[in-house]
Amino acid sequence: MGGRNVLVTGGSRGLGAAIVQSFLDGGDNVTTCSRTPSAEIERWRADRSLIGRFHYDQADLVDRQASTELVHRTFQRFGGVDVLVNNAGLAVEGVLGLVDDDDIDAVIDLNLKATVHTTKLVVRRMLAHGSGRIVNISSIVGLSGYRGLSVYGATKAALDGFTRSLARELGSRGITVNSVAPGYLRTSMTHGLEAAQLDQIARRTPVGRLGEPADVVAAVQFLTSPGASFINGHVLVVDGGLTA
Ligand code: NAP
Repeated sequence: MGGRNVLVTGGSRGLGAAIVQSFLDGGDNVTTCSRTPSAEIERWRADRSLIGRFHYDQADLVDRQASTELVHRTFQRFGGVDVLVNNAGLAVEGVLGLVDDDDIDAVIDLNLKATVHTTKLVVRRMLAHGSGRIVNISSIVGLSGYRGLSVYGATKAALDGFTRSLARELGSRGITVNSVAPGYLRTSMTHGLEAAQLDQIARRTPVGRLGEPADVVAAVQFLTSPGASFINGHVLVVDGGLTA
């Protein structure tokens, strides 16, 4: 494919970084953001073959002004956004009665409110172009739940609801909206889980292991490929069969 203008939120590490790499490998132009740069970001910035194709903006998506500026800078650079991957997310673990109120707000503000806001800005331009692909990274926690992740699970279930309604709203305008719901992946987000918990998840997973970012990247690439133009409003579970 190649040549598409892609915005991936939260591409500094983990799944987001793997998604950014896959679009760069495919010859697309990529903008990503995070609150702090990373070694990965510095590597892409230093790569002369990516000059003009890779852009990084240090931005906190929860800050409405910062996220608005991020989207507008992306429009200025590329003229529009063909593919939006809403990947940035935050998980705070704890049984609900003990969760800090600020943590509840932080999870909802990023996973739900910032995603809706960023999508709103991008969709306006996609509507003017008459085409676009949106992929929301949700989670199987939004489908089947997980003890200690109720707030996170609520935001991810909400994202799938957002996907379905937006798919109905935008399908006739050449824009598809889908969710990818990963199982448990080996990223910094799951570093907080104890080894015994991770072992248990792997044992309960029919394919017998945790997920890797590469497993999810393949789903994102498929949903943004021409062959997936009739897939709209779908939640694609990528969990090795854990919730089957
Ligand atoms: P991660 O390693 O913690 O990476 C999260 C990314 O989002 C980082 O680039 C982070 O950079 C960025 N980010 C966080 N807060 C931000 C903010 N306020 N503004 C801008 N960027 C922000 O997480 P991950 O495991 O790759 O997860 C990626 C997505 O997959 C998330 O939506 C997550 O919910 C979902 N998911 C993960 C798993 C899993 O097991 N790991 C399973 C299912 C779904 P900064 O911190 O520097 O801002």
